[in-house]
Amino acid sequence: MNSIFELFKIGIGPSSSHTVGPMIAAFRFSKECMERSCVAPGTDVSIARVEVQLYGSLALTGVGHATDNAIVVGLAGCLPDRTSPEVIQSTVDAARKSGRLLLNGQLDIQFDESKDLVWLRNETLPQHPNAIQFKAFRDSGECFLEDQYFSTGGGFVYSREEFDRNFAKSSSDLVVGDSVPYPFRNAKELLQMCRGASASIESLIQANELTLRSELEIDSQLDLLWSVMSNCIDRGCMSSGILPGSLKVPRRAPGIFGKLSQQSALSELAELAVSKDMLPSKLLTESKPGTLTQSDPLAQLDWVSLFALAVNEENAAGGRVVTAPTNGAAGIIPAVLAYYVYFYPGASRQGIHRFLKTAGAIGLLYKRNASLSAAEMGCQGEVGVACSMAAGGLAACMGGSNEQIENAAEIGMEHNLGLTCDPIAGLVQVPCIERNTMGAAKAINAARLAVLYGDGHHFVSLDRVIETMRQTGVDMQLKYKETSLGGLAVNFVDC
Ligand code: SF4
Repeated sequence: MNSIFELFKIGIGPSSSHTVGPMIAAFRFSKECMERSCVAPGTDVSIARVEVQLYGSLALTGVGHATDNAIVVGLAGCLPDRTSPEVIQSTVDAARKSGRLLLNGQLDIQFDESKDLVWLRNETLPQHPNAIQFKAFRDSGECFLEDQYFSTGGGFVYSREEFDRNFAKSSSDLVVGDSVPYPFRNAKELLQMCRGASASIESLIQANELTLRSELEIDSQLDLLWSVMSNCIDRGCMSSGILPGSLKVPRRAPGIFGKLSQQSALSELAELAVSKDMLPSKLLTESKPGTLTQSDPLAQLDWVSLFALAVNEENAAGGRVVTAPTNGAAGIIPAVLAYYVYFYPGASRQGIHRFLKTAGAIGLLYKRNASLSAAEMGCQGEVGVACSMAAGGLAACMGGSNEQIENAAEIGMEHNLGLTCDPIAGLVQVPCIERNTMGAAKAINAARLAVLYGDGHHFVSLDRVIETMRQTGVDMQLKYKETSLGGLAVNFVDC
């Protein structure tokens, strides 16, 4: 994987590994079914039903993570970046009511969830904790096609054959293609290549991306990512009510937005950002922008927390988000990027692009050398990685050197090491939503420490901290890895 656009995906909530990934897997299997059934015209290859088995973490937390919905709509031919949350809901409702669905949007088949979707909570496949087995059967009952898919975090999906080809021993062995001019595998190589080319991290990423798409496409894709993030913040600030699921968690973002708007309107810098088309935001008209009242010097921090809460509440509600690099941690990068846009003097569209390219470079290091999957790494692989990426992105926008960016990213992860994944009731809500506010604040702190008060020299390298995260993830007990079998998930009831 060489592109940051494989890392930043436009998807829907609440989970990249448990919603986006399974939807893509189901879509791919349904497409394969239709393609194969057309291979021999005239032969009886009609498909009567499909059976899906969910293993391990997907089975344990799949209900709270809407994995069942994702499978249904994926089989019906929907993809997360092309389907609205409303269409997803109506497709699921129709399939549940009728016990049937249109496979890949084309072939009417039986899909009775109570029989055809099997939750194997005590079984795992050796390749990965997030595994799905699909089987399609003919009218005669004979198996027509079967395959396994692995959802390895961040919306990445591999078929059995792809998994075997890409991962020699584990997810850390992902092959780096040599089709790009700078095929860096780790932070040391990234910094060496930057030195050799007298270039910034952003420039190296740009050079790599240019082998895959035009400059215009890169720019418009980056604009689109920020637009989706920004619109998600807007929607989250305006949407009140109770989040889906058994916890009945109330949305907090609109209330906080109301209070903050009264206490301290967003800055004139933000108004400027809107005038420059950097911020497709409704927030400013709602909050009657003026100067940021500094009666509370930490008001900026409150806005950052609001941005993160808004995104993650939207994510929890199944809304449109950017997987950055996962959905559970989708609020951190938008919140820190919004901090840059709203509050940082001299913020620009180029700065937004610099942020995303630099953060993307750091995310690629984690994907290549460890994992983005909470089922493998715990929450350090989601919130920790997003914090590290955001810290590096902000450091770049603050004018940090490559070494200071690497330092910021290292700090961002160092203080998230060991963070467990223990979502209550299997929902991506508690502690997930609030945890994004902490990740965003930590990222800003890390960037400031590295750029304003550091010179790039530091004790622990980013590569070492990534390897430490990987080892910690391997050693972490299963109950803390997106299973809802330990931690807050079992201790939240006050007896
Ligand atoms: S605890 Fe962290 S890793 Fe686990 S679901 Fe929540 S955000 Fe994702």
